[in-house]
Amino acid sequence: MFSYTADSLKSELNSKGWRLTPQRETILQVFQTLARGNHLSAEELHDILGQRGEPISLSTVYRTVKLMARMGILRELELAEGHKHYELNSASPHHHHHLVCVQCNRTIEFENDSIWKQGLKQVDRAGFQMIDCQLTIYTICPEALRMGWPASVPSRWMCSRSIASMEPTEKPEISSPQP
Ligand SMILES: [Zn+2]
Ligand SMILES: [Zn+2]
Repeated sequence: MFSYTADSLKSELNSKGWRLTPQRETILQVFQTLARGNHLSAEELHDILGQRGEPISLSTVYRTVKLMARMGILRELELAEGHKHYELNSASPHHHHHLVCVQCNRTIEFENDSIWKQGLKQVDRAGFQMIDCQLTIYTICPEALRMGWPASVPSRWMCSRSIASMEPTEKPEISSPQP
């Protein structure tokens, strides 16, 4: 997994006329320590920063992740209902793609070179420059299907696995959805 050091990032940002402020560095650190396959929304990032005792206003978090995505430092992943999640961009040419559960946002990553190659071909033909190439496949996860999605699944219900992946600490099993 590729990760920026503070110094390599600083020089890269400086060359693009952007300063790595302490706030931006803190935000970047959260993404650097995120387990592979996890993606954060601006709201989740904001919560984590608060828990770490480094509160940064939600509007600053929004602005910063947007900017980092435009610079190619973060990848923006569009989940269900226009809900954006972010992850660290990888320097590897094997950019990954996502299966996303529209009920619980549970996300599974996969790699596929032919998607990347096809994207590059289209971009070259148009004379554009590629920043990112990602395929998002919208799905219903097996847990939601077993629950009888959509009729018998409350709209706020989250699969236990997606809750578990957001909470690294031990949590009691959630046996029934909230009414
Ligand atoms: Zn991903
Ligand atoms: Zn799900």
